[in-house]
Amino acid sequence: MKIADTIRDLRREVAHKSLNRSLVLVPTMGNLHEGHISLIKTAQQQGDLTCVSLFVNPLQFGPTEDFDKYPRTLEQDLEKLSNAGVDIVFTPTIEELYPTSRETFTKVDYPILSSDLCGITRKQFFSGIMVVISKLFNIVQPNFAVFGEKDYQQLTIIKNLVQDLNFPITIISSPTIREQDGLAMSSRNGYLTAMERKMAPLLYQTLCKTKEHMNKGNRDFGALEMSACESLNQGGFRTDYVAIRRKQDLALPTVEDDAFIILTAAYLGKTRLIDNIFV
Ligand code: AMP
Repeated sequence: MKIADTIRDLRREVAHKSLNRSLVLVPTMGNLHEGHISLIKTAQQQGDLTCVSLFVNPLQFGPTEDFDKYPRTLEQDLEKLSNAGVDIVFTPTIEELYPTSRETFTKVDYPILSSDLCGITRKQFFSGIMVVISKLFNIVQPNFAVFGEKDYQQLTIIKNLVQDLNFPITIISSPTIREQDGLAMSSRNGYLTAMERKMAPLLYQTLCKTKEHMNKGNRDFGALEMSACESLNQGGFRTDYVAIRRKQDLALPTVEDDAFIILTAAYLGKTRLIDNIFV
């Protein structure tokens, strides 16, 4: 496994290894768990070579968010990546990716969807993600890139980015990996206190219950969302949103639609958790 921490090294390695072989990129912020490893397995089924990036992207964190305390576990991550059979790891510094002032850096944005759902409270989140992913795509130039369905709004925005800006890359989605009690795996689960960790599975349980109502034919989207919010708030969460949307594009659904997604974001103490389920 080759570890590159400069763009130059990374490009040299890719050029050297990828002749006549397809390359799959898995972008991550590190602190790897089974969810990330399952993305790597998806990548390995898809192409010949796998490149994983480890980079905590300052551009996607708001001024009051957890950029400083986000868990950084490089040594353990490298061991996991080596065990998983990854070919190339890209570990750039902030200066390597953003050598010029971040304040004046070129912005990429996707109006409407990037200021909806998670974008309502996290103002620069999706623009920051679109910038770093565009840069990674240009640096690594993979044939495929794998993203988790857990971050479904991110996945939808990246599919649009690739289509709108003509990146010659196919986006592959990979299903959400959960703990035994249903909680979606996330690096932020480590912030939860023991008490909060016991409460956390209610998030997925509430999504499952809402899905059950929809499977029985209930299409009163507003009432279903409100009832899910109430259950979460009663269970100790501070709910940001529960939203039923069209799965294809996250637009508001109509009763004629037949593929939905229920998305939620909710705080347990100071920790913001997100999850979703397909209907
Ligand atoms: P992150 O390191 O949190 O930025 O996530 C990197 C990639 O892993 C993203 O494409 C996420 O959607 C994906 N991911 C995170 N958690 C999970 C999970 N529990 N199951 C599947 N994919 C995940």
